[in-house]
Amino acid sequence: MTRALLYVSTRHRSPAIGISDAIGSGLAPDGGLYVPHRLPQLAIEDFNPRGSLADTAHTLLTPFFAGDRLAKSLANICREALDFDTPLCALPQDDAYMLELFHGPTAAFKDIGARFLAACLRRLPRSDKHPLTILVATSGDTGAAVGSALHRQAGIRVLILYPDGLVAARQAHQLGCFGDNVQALRVQGRFDDCQRMVKTALQNHVLQTHCPLSSANSISLGRLLPQMSYYAHTALRYWHNHHTPLGFIVPTGNLGNALAALWVQHMGLPIAEVYLACNANATLPEFFAGADYRPRQAVTTLANAMDVGAPSNFERLRWTYPNAIEARSRIRALSVDDAHIQSTLTYHARRYDTIICPHTATAMYLLDRLREEGHRAPCAIVATAHPAKFDQIVEPLAQRQVPVPSALSTMLKRSTNAQPLNATQEALEQWLRQTTSDAR
Ligand SMILES: *Cc1c(COP(=O)(O)O)cnc(C)c1O
Repeated sequence: MTRALLYVSTRHRSPAIGISDAIGSGLAPDGGLYVPHRLPQLAIEDFNPRGSLADTAHTLLTPFFAGDRLAKSLANICREALDFDTPLCALPQDDAYMLELFHGPTAAFKDIGARFLAACLRRLPRSDKHPLTILVATSGDTGAAVGSALHRQAGIRVLILYPDGLVAARQAHQLGCFGDNVQALRVQGRFDDCQRMVKTALQNHVLQTHCPLSSANSISLGRLLPQMSYYAHTALRYWHNHHTPLGFIVPTGNLGNALAALWVQHMGLPIAEVYLACNANATLPEFFAGADYRPRQAVTTLANAMDVGAPSNFERLRWTYPNAIEARSRIRALSVDDAHIQSTLTYHARRYDTIICPHTATAMYLLDRLREEGHRAPCAIVATAHPAKFDQIVEPLAQRQVPVPSALSTMLKRSTNAQPLNATQEALEQWLRQTTSDAR
């Protein structure tokens, strides 16, 4: 029998718990983030070289679920959540690729984590007296992914908080298009306000006696762990075909996606460098360039899903690399401002016919710089969203219309509705109390 893997807080002042409890509770009681007691190690030979993405995910995540009540459902969870392609497509540049993570129902990589988390939540026991409310603060893509993954799920309602006016028009439409058990609130503030309101509500135990709450933000291991699967799957395929490791350039905001790649590398799978491409929010690039870590207010950019000034997964990064010097020697991060996002989008549309979203453009820009500096190692940029989600930015720059994927176009045909909410704790808690008593 395999030993259970337990999860501890990055701040070391919470009891160790199993993966189901860690997934169910989001933040640890001491305010830290859950991390495995240690990262499991796997070898290339442990994986079926002809397996699907779901098969790779199952092999990769089995040690993370060892000894847990979800362990026997893990294969089904992986199959349910990872039922769309994450193709690695060759770019016209030498040894350069694009890992397309936007073929899920809401056209952004957030679908992978959200669908896995939903598949876990469906299987976890909960009180049948009150529905569980999942609070999601979103800078644009997470809300729709979680809404889609839990739409019409009995016993669960989803409340999406997004900053009014600060998400793309099609993102806003998606956020409000679900109805039934999924409600969107447009908060009169910024993403950081939404995130703070959610965190504070989650710590309010009086409120939760009538209105049990959970969150689905990127701090949840239920989202972070499945994101490792497409890195493992792509890296293993590449290794089998080319006998050399592949590097990844990851558009980065809260650091959940890039951390997943780094964990796969730490587990012993063949991943070369991991580069972080950030927008004008330069907290991480400054840290990796040698400055102290200095979280701050986010600034608004064209790559809005990466407008994060205090990346929440930074604590997990420091846990992974306790030595800052080692972290800095292994990881390179670059801040890409809006002007360079725009010029990169235009250049690649004209020169190569490659149409990318503004987030993916930060990674493309970093790839261009690496090639200019003479780096020739095989490398994949990670395409985190479909460009059609950001038509108002992309189409004028690329000077053409971007075809809309069918799942997205179905959502855009539905009507949409989001209620306004002040950016205060009282406003959110009052809304929760009122709608909970209505529901009974
Ligand atoms: C969320 C998001 C990112 C940033 O991912 P993190 O895990 O927060 O670093 C990048 N691009 C898109 C399109 C996103 O939705």
